[in-house]
Amino acid sequence: MAYEQPRFTPPILIQETAVRELCRLARNGYEHSGKRETFGFLYGVIDSDNRLVVRSARYYRGGTKTRYGITLPVRQARRRRRELARELKLRFLGSFHSHVEVGGHVSRGLSDDDRSTFRQDEEALLELVVFVWAGRRKTLRPTPRSVVAYEPDTGYHYRVRVYAKLSGGIRKTRIKVIRSGVVIVY
Ligand SMILES: [Zn+2]
Repeated sequence: MAYEQPRFTPPILIQETAVRELCRLARNGYEHSGKRETFGFLYGVIDSDNRLVVRSARYYRGGTKTRYGITLPVRQARRRRRELARELKLRFLGSFHSHVEVGGHVSRGLSDDDRSTFRQDEEALLELVVFVWAGRRKTLRPTPRSVVAYEPDTGYHYRVRVYAKLSGGIRKTRIKVIRSGVVIVY
């Protein structure tokens, strides 16, 4: 039977705690000797307004992570992500990875490999990328399609983008952070 993708409407909502965890994991990879990308799974719910809400980001230890990409044992990784969904009692929403600055350059957007992996993963609704680079502080413009952060302690910049399978294609999608301790009333 063909897998039917659940319907959802942008923006994608992300809890602030998940954003912090994503930046922390991106930083760990960036600080690893030789630098490397991070990788893991996103969990959450689809609420009554058909919004995807990302509540948790979980690192995946398996596979090989380099500064330019990730190689995964696909079957083990899928088994692990199902286990985590059961533990968390949340729905698997997709994967995340980072793009790290190398020699002053950060690769923007999804690579061709990123796209084809995402397309082939029929259970994944989202692919989230955290871009991380060091640099002098400047004011980064947040846009409706990205979340930006600057970390004074390390001097790192972060930008989070979410790509979703929508309208038959892969699209960079509007995102909104749900601040901790704030009740969102629609
Ligand atoms: Zn990538």
